[in-house]
Amino acid sequence: QVKRNRKNSFAFYEDALSVPLQHRAEMERLLRFAMDNGEFVLHYQPQIHLGSSDAAGFEALIRWNSPELGFIPPDQFIKIAEETHLIVPIGEWVLRTACEFIKTVHEAGHLAPIVSVNVSVVQLLGHRYVETVMNVLRETGLDPRYLELEVTESMVIESLDQIADKLSRLKEHGVNIALDDFGRGFSSLSHLMKLPITTLKIDKSFIEQIPDNMDHQPLTGLVIRLAQGLGIKVVAEGVETYAQLDYLKKYECDCIQGYLFSKPLPAKQARDWIKTVS
Ligand code: C2E
Ligand code: MG
Ligand code: MG
Ligand code: MG
Repeated sequence: QVKRNRKNSFAFYEDALSVPLQHRAEMERLLRFAMDNGEFVLHYQPQIHLGSSDAAGFEALIRWNSPELGFIPPDQFIKIAEETHLIVPIGEWVLRTACEFIKTVHEAGHLAPIVSVNVSVVQLLGHRYVETVMNVLRETGLDPRYLELEVTESMVIESLDQIADKLSRLKEHGVNIALDDFGRGFSSLSHLMKLPITTLKIDKSFIEQIPDNMDHQPLTGLVIRLAQGLGIKVVAEGVETYAQLDYLKKYECDCIQGYLFSKPLPAKQARDWIKTVS
């Protein structure tokens, strides 16, 4: 679907567009307006250390509060933002806002939590992505080790080497790199080995099957063991039940993220939440 042209930007085949052109043009206009008028907001979903029950960090998740369209979840606009490249300024806003948020958490005396930010392939392949991240860290005064960037397998497959190189540079600066949605669709252990990742996030579609599908139980446990054997931290996503929690404890999964502990919260509530756990 994504085709790179000579200038290292993207061209998209028209027949691969996710929405009809007219709707897309209108969405592009609304997204641009949203960007300029502060209609985006970040919610933060807590991640907890399974061993100690301490706060491990927060995943920043974007929401769009549109006066015209109402409340729009990311699944409904990220793709169009990528196709129009608006994800570049939106993504930079997300990064800066998330870094500022976690600074306020640290300043309130909770020094350990990190913030995780989802990154699109369009951002990663854009010019000077590494520099952009380092600039935002410098400007916000956040130590790189408190930032984690989340990438998904499906998006990195096409330009694996180029992306691995950029992520390696970021990792050398101290930034954490997470592979998101592992186990959704087509997962490959060779990608796990090729990418300079520090964290593996097991997808909720995998976690969901823990209580009732015995086949997936040993597999999930095996993935945890394998990742940890490579020195990679494991986060289970979409944990909703105590049965899942017990299983993940048994296999010594490092961190948990899911509705069982908390939904994604607005910044103020996220700061209140952390007072209740540490
Ligand atoms: P993701 O990165 O895999 O984020 C986890 C999603 O699972 C979030 O959905 C979260 O609200 C949801 N979730 C968390 N715990 C549970 C649970 O226990 N049960 C269930 N059913 N769901 C749970 P959300 O916020 O709607 O985000 C959807 C996707 O949109 C994200 O998936 C991510 O790929 C993308 N996204 C979100 N924010 C950004 C962003 O700032 N930039 C980019 N490029 N993508 C983003
Ligand atoms: Mg994510
Ligand atoms: Mg994701
Ligand atoms: Mg995920």
